[in-house]
Amino acid sequence: MRHLEKAENIKSVIPSTREDTDLFSFEETKKIIDENKPDCLINAAAKVGGIMANNTYRTEFIVENLKINLNILEASILYPNMKIINLGSSCIYPLNAKDPIKEESFMTGELEPTNSPYAMAKISAIEIGRSMNTQYNHKILNLMPTNLYGPNDNFSENDSHVIPGIIQRMHQAKTNQNSKFKIWGSGKPLREFLYVDDLAAAIEFLIESDTNIDLLNVGSGEEISIKELAYKIKKIIGYEGDIEFDTKFPDGNPRKFLDSSKINSLGWKSKISLDHGLNLTYEWYLDNIA
Ligand code: GDP
Repeated sequence: MRHLEKAENIKSVIPSTREDTDLFSFEETKKIIDENKPDCLINAAAKVGGIMANNTYRTEFIVENLKINLNILEASILYPNMKIINLGSSCIYPLNAKDPIKEESFMTGELEPTNSPYAMAKISAIEIGRSMNTQYNHKILNLMPTNLYGPNDNFSENDSHVIPGIIQRMHQAKTNQNSKFKIWGSGKPLREFLYVDDLAAAIEFLIESDTNIDLLNVGSGEEISIKELAYKIKKIIGYEGDIEFDTKFPDGNPRKFLDSSKINSLGWKSKISLDHGLNLTYEWYLDNIA
């Protein structure tokens, strides 16, 4: 919303949040689409969380995400000219997909177990979208971002993703002058992070672009281990204690580096470096959460 409201070629952005529409209700979902008939619908709605939330609330992650996607897509069947950008996740790709992961790896193997329920809901949405494209001539583009971070993220201790999770816990460790800080898992997994404004810029770019590709990765092209990430955050926060590893927590996927060459060759590239994005995120956290 922050980004698209400022976009030159977009006349108006019609926001929809949990406050105005219950996406578990087909009637409410259909009503907001029928009443507004937008040129483009961006589906960024989901129940999301980090590795522990995904692995704990497995039932809610598949059931709620299936409902949300099913209602939005079914309510859109009558509007084949409405461009739909349907957001997914890099976890849709198989655990043993070759890195960097190309779009062609979709549905070629077994999923990573900590977030397979969430991934199955996102995979179902892609399959429904592809069916609508083939059968009813829709223009649904399934956009798969790598791990996202930035302002307005969920900074809770246990249910968040790694960047907001470590920021929240390490800021508290600094405040409480704790001499030790434990990161979850071995610190060895590699992750690729994309600042949320970069994703918004990619969405703006795709609204304008005339591609007929139906599945597209979007990543920063920058990969880092969780250990190195923790040290970067330590420096930004100014935490002076030692970092240790809590191997009671799962590592999840050892590596999921997206091949973003398709979107890059269309003309979009990530602009915000991890260092810059982490600084912006911590500033936002200090102003809004701490
Ligand atoms: P994932 O990319 O789906 O695995 O989701 P996360 O962002 O939750 O976790 C990424 C990696 O960071 C995993 O290997 C976690 O074990 C590790 N990690 C280390 N410390 C934390 C933390 O405080 N919170 C979270 N969510 N993950 C952490």
